[in-house]
Amino acid sequence: MEKQKQVILGIDIGGTNVAFGLIGKEEKKILWKDSEPIHQFSTAEEMADRIGQKIQNKFELIGIGIGAPNGNYYTGSIEFAPNLPWKGIVPLKQIFENKFGVPTVVSNDANAAACGEYVFGKAGNHPNFLMMTLGTGVGSGLFVDGKLVLGSDGMAGELGHFMVVPNGRPCGCGRNGCLEAYASSTALIKQYLEKSNSQETISAKDVVDRWKNGDPVATEVMVNSIEILGMSLANFVTIHSPSMIVLFGGWAQSGESTLEAIRSSFEKNVLEIYRGKVELVSSLLEGSDSALLGAASLVF
Ligand SMILES: [Zn+2]
Repeated sequence: MEKQKQVILGIDIGGTNVAFGLIGKEEKKILWKDSEPIHQFSTAEEMADRIGQKIQNKFELIGIGIGAPNGNYYTGSIEFAPNLPWKGIVPLKQIFENKFGVPTVVSNDANAAACGEYVFGKAGNHPNFLMMTLGTGVGSGLFVDGKLVLGSDGMAGELGHFMVVPNGRPCGCGRNGCLEAYASSTALIKQYLEKSNSQETISAKDVVDRWKNGDPVATEVMVNSIEILGMSLANFVTIHSPSMIVLFGGWAQSGESTLEAIRSSFEKNVLEIYRGKVELVSSLLEGSDSALLGAASLVF
């Protein structure tokens, strides 16, 4: 009998869907993937059962990596994630190790994205880099000397909640003026609708497109948000002197001109000793695949 391919199961748990895929250890690519709506599972055990039924014995499973909101690397649990159907502390690592009998690593989604960028993306030659995801929220993962920074409680690198504007816009964390309240996709949409007194349904990409087409409200929002993002990135660089910053997420990956505007704000604001030394790029990885690769890379 032919020897089975060794695979890692990557799982990306989101507020809407759970995506899962098998990533070949040798091939370093997704061999199979699927997803399910998350809210049908009243417990995480039910979700694990369903994933188990779907992957069956397709390959030899050697590890599981899970990226989840508020996923804690040290405890292997999800802790009080606001957008998930399960409340309180969910011991994911334990649930999956019991069911599948292979080592399981849990981390928050931004840390998983950072690991994915290091293993599969542009940051492979940059042991000191910052990954920032600009989606529904703003997440970040920090690599120092080739290692993910976890901090004393596994929650290091919440740069989205750096307060960057005194008494600024309200943030989902209950405070005011966080970077997330200006630079997330949600924040771009909210600011645009407020300033244009509109209730239309638009995406962050629409705001970016309107900015590029000269819409004055979109321009005001984008110029201000990009200024705040560039300034924040300049501040973060003083903390650990990365050689690369990777931006991930719909609007940050909307083209070279967007990136150039962020770069220009960053370079204007950064301390002189770092100027011209930090590569600011958008992620090579796109869409749902990157989350699966990121989750799997936790065990690579
Ligand atoms: Zn906040």
